[in-house]
Amino acid sequence: MSGSASIGIKALTLNMKVDGGEFVVHPVLLWDEQERILVDTGIPGQLELIAGVLEQEGVPLGKLSRIIITHQDRDHIGSLPELVKATGGSVQVLAHEEAVPYLAGELPLLKSQQLAPPVRVDTVLRDGDLLPYAGGIRVIFTPGHTPDHISLYHLPSKTLITGDALTSRDGVLLPFDSGFTLDHKTALASVAQFEPLELDTVVTYHGGVCTERIDERLREILAGASA
Ligand SMILES: [Zn+2]
Repeated sequence: MSGSASIGIKALTLNMKVDGGEFVVHPVLLWDEQERILVDTGIPGQLELIAGVLEQEGVPLGKLSRIIITHQDRDHIGSLPELVKATGGSVQVLAHEEAVPYLAGELPLLKSQQLAPPVRVDTVLRDGDLLPYAGGIRVIFTPGHTPDHISLYHLPSKTLITGDALTSRDGVLLPFDSGFTLDHKTALASVAQFEPLELDTVVTYHGGVCTERIDERLREILAGASA
């Protein structure tokens, strides 16, 4: 989870208040000499918090060049419309092709049945795409949690950004949240795609950074879930 000054990746922490309780998620910042890229955007109304967290990393909002959305859930796309507006529309939005009508506000979000405030997807992503940013980011289509879900593999740091395809706690990789995952069988097949990857670090949106026993935990999760 580092890199030279010119190329890097860092898991961020957004500590939000929801119904009086704490709600913590982990977007990821990736960068190279030209690009500053944010993966996922918290719940609605977090523009100030996100801007502050980015500022701490030396990235004023105006420098943010791209936002990659892992899937349509509210806690991932929530502050996307505000971020796009705050950058004057200069930030480019990337998402899987299956996510496009949901982000555009054309189809109701699958979990809330509400239409999202419309955001245009500038770059449509597909499985296997290699994005030439931050030294190379591979798109892995990982449906199941939702049908539009992607994970990202950052090649230089051997970091997997799982979105909600997996969770973790205290650095221990855990299965996807079954209560919020729409299609368990498909979700499990998606997790199996992670096994062949060479992984030094995994970042789960809920739970954060894992660096220990990654291969072992993946095997256990796949075995346990199919048992
Ligand atoms: Zn989530």
